[in-house]
Amino acid sequence: MKILVINAGSSSLKFELFDATKELKSRLRGLAERIGEGEGIFHAADTEITAPIPDHQAAMRILKEYLEENAEKFGSPDEIRMVGHRVVHGGNTFVEPTLITNRVKEKIRSLFHLAPLHNPANLKGIEMAEKFFPAAKQVAVFDTAFHQSIPEREHRYAIPGTYYRQGIRQYGFHGISHQYVSRKAAELLGRNDLRLITLHLGNGASMAAVKNGKSMATTMGFGPLAGLVMGTRSGDIDPSVLLYLLRGGMSVDDLDKMLNKQSGLKALFGSNDMRDVEAGYASGDPKARLALNIYTGRIRKYIGAYMALLSGADALVFTAGIGEHSALVREKSVEGLDFAGIEIDKQKNQNPAKYGGEVQSARSKVKILVIPTREEQEIARQCLNLAHEIL
Ligand code: ADP
Repeated sequence: MKILVINAGSSSLKFELFDATKELKSRLRGLAERIGEGEGIFHAADTEITAPIPDHQAAMRILKEYLEENAEKFGSPDEIRMVGHRVVHGGNTFVEPTLITNRVKEKIRSLFHLAPLHNPANLKGIEMAEKFFPAAKQVAVFDTAFHQSIPEREHRYAIPGTYYRQGIRQYGFHGISHQYVSRKAAELLGRNDLRLITLHLGNGASMAAVKNGKSMATTMGFGPLAGLVMGTRSGDIDPSVLLYLLRGGMSVDDLDKMLNKQSGLKALFGSNDMRDVEAGYASGDPKARLALNIYTGRIRKYIGAYMALLSGADALVFTAGIGEHSALVREKSVEGLDFAGIEIDKQKNQNPAKYGGEVQSARSKVKILVIPTREEQEIARQCLNLAHEIL
């Protein structure tokens, strides 16, 4: 038996194929990109196919054909008994991996307004997988689900209750990643009763306070704009600024574009790629220094906030593109936190893998871990657990 994981975005479709055993060995991963943009590209293992990929149906067909043609290497597509789909928004409804039925699809559709860029593509991925892998059970794993344990005192905004009843509250995202690295941290430290602060620093970025494996707070909110400074998103901003700009005549679409696409590191430095900021910092560029100080200052502020919320911390866990690869960001994010028992070993921090992912100093009371995130594997793991129950 095999599990196929699908992450369908608006113009891309990522996939990974796993053996459905405890080890969840990855057999194949790949990506169809530039869907609907004229010439598309399909990558899998060492294959690259350039062809028009007008829609998700075409992308899924190429994947199915690829699997059929390479059945000797990766096993027949008939062995795929479950397809796990990453679905961004599960609203208040979905707190765990969910077997897809017509009702579940309707519910995902009813949440389109909460994630207009993501949920429609995710649903397309589900419908196409139903079409091309009809013998497999389809399962949705939600990026918001892990954060559904956040208590009302944290997730509720102090605005009139009528809005809360309409679903306006904090949801949080990157849940699959925060959950994965929390579990890995527990395995690494050999215990489950942990107070963790997880930092997913990719193009999008968020932190979570995790107690005994449950999310207690996170930095993203109703949408993915709140909290940390990101590649092109602002992170926290006083809502008065938005009112001021709207009253000044800025259109809603322009404001949306400004906050989502033209802010963050891109606005502060000129590039949304942390590698460019690091290069600027190394050459003494004051803009890069400021961008990095704002970026890591926000992280430090939330480390403090989450230590207060958890009454301390056993470990910080850095993950995703920047968290895994930027020693400079890790170092600056914990600068001056020795008063709280957090101290990094600068040498270990240069090469975490060599030290089993632990980069705190010998004196540090709080562990500092670097754990590569594997969202597809987490989805597959949740599917496998469900498969044990239902298959
Ligand atoms: P996404 O959120 O799109 O999944 P990733 O988690 O892959 O993104 O993170 C992408 C970001 O990671 C890049 O924009 C880049 O800023 C950063 N990054 C990747 N490699 C490095 C590196 N070696 N050093 C510093 N930053 C890096």
